Amino acid sequence: MSASIDHIRNIGIIAHIDAGKTTTTERILYYAGVVHRPGGVDEGTTATDFDEEEAKRGITIYSAAITCHWKGYSINIIDTPGHVDFTAEVERSLRVLDGAVVVFSAMEGVEAQSETVWRQADKYNVPRICFINKMDRIGASFNRTFEEIKRRLRANPVALQIPIGEGSTSTGVSFEGVIDLVKMKSLYYDKGSMGSSFEVREIADEYLEQAQEWRNKMLEAVAELDEKVLEQYYETEDIPEADLLRLLREATLRGDLQPTFCGSSLNFIGVQPVLDAVGEFLPSPLDRPPVEGINPQPKKRGGDAGEPESRATSVDEPVCGLVFKIQTDKHGDLCFIRVYSGQLKSGTRLLNARTGKKELISQLWRVHADAREKVETDSIDAGDIAGVIGPKDAVTGDTLCDIKHPILLESISFPETVISMA
Ligand code: GDP
Repeated sequence: MSASIDHIRNIGIIAHIDAGKTTTTERILYYAGVVHRPGGVDEGTTATDFDEEEAKRGITIYSAAITCHWKGYSINIIDTPGHVDFTAEVERSLRVLDGAVVVFSAMEGVEAQSETVWRQADKYNVPRICFINKMDRIGASFNRTFEEIKRRLRANPVALQIPIGEGSTSTGVSFEGVIDLVKMKSLYYDKGSMGSSFEVREIADEYLEQAQEWRNKMLEAVAELDEKVLEQYYETEDIPEADLLRLLREATLRGDLQPTFCGSSLNFIGVQPVLDAVGEFLPSPLDRPPVEGINPQPKKRGGDAGEPESRATSVDEPVCGLVFKIQTDKHGDLCFIRVYSGQLKSGTRLLNARTGKKELISQLWRVHADAREKVETDSIDAGDIAGVIGPKDAVTGDTLCDIKHPILLESISFPETVISMA
């Protein structure tokens, strides 16, 4: 079943190696019901790591796309490699996603590689939410990591949650859950339930002052975005929830701020709020500007080579998509395509704008938890991600498009296109 375009989220989960990207992805898939069994990286059973060598090395090298569903949203997780050697691959993935969850370790804070991926995401203007992970580890600090995100990344994180307790220390305090600063409630996690159940309680007296301080910081950051809301905030010292969420979303899409969450993905704490936030704050394909490219067809063949072309995110436009990954499994080559416009239909022929050759789309797949769980479908709409079998000469970076309406997307100046959105 496909979601309407505004309910599609094409996201990446990006992080410094070891910050918990794989574990967080795994938990997200678990909650979204794709992975029913909560495997962990340590058991080598993660759904994103379906390459044997990759699983052995414990590094997610290749990009793959996985679709999962959450509260009416269809979330395509485009796996981005975390190792610094693979930054070219990270950049390729960043081109096709609309938003990202950046995972930090509350122990190590912002590391050199976190900076690298953050700058790459800046370059491609990818709206972000932050997840401060490993809150259960000894020495974990939410405040320190939050300040480092501000200072080292020159970012504008806005905490929508603070932790209840931090990594078990000699004082015996341990991480028990999170305080939701929008609703001003505490979420205590039942450790026995793999985090699938949590209890919503009033904020305990000992945390009330701290929660109020952080909430005020959030309200001030949001009030500054809108004059009317600022006036209202000065009068009432509050912002109605609907305005708060709307302004947070708009500012996140512009890249002006980054809603920030915390938890422990290993212990399943705080992952559901992140999934909610993906739907709430990250962009849908409709929030992005039309993709731009050039006409690849030489004049002698009736084309208009070099002339600019663009396609809006709509099923009514001629179809075009970008091959961002080719993965080989026992069934052959599976091309992962981000469909930007029109409808990709099984059994049709498309033009490979680079080679000028026609390619058959013999089978279309919606790719679930791993390649073994792919589900065949007849068509994939603009804004969505498809797994395609059939193209013979396609390589990563190729554009497949309507034969009569050719466009070569490889030449998109991505940052410029996105900047024009603001
Ligand atoms: P990646 O390299 O960013 O994909 O990180 P992984 O998800 O592979 O995690 C690296 C290591 O940290 C693994 O041993 C995980 O079990 C562990 N880990 C991940 N998240 C947490 C967490 O929230 N708390 C603790 N204590 N360990 C975690």
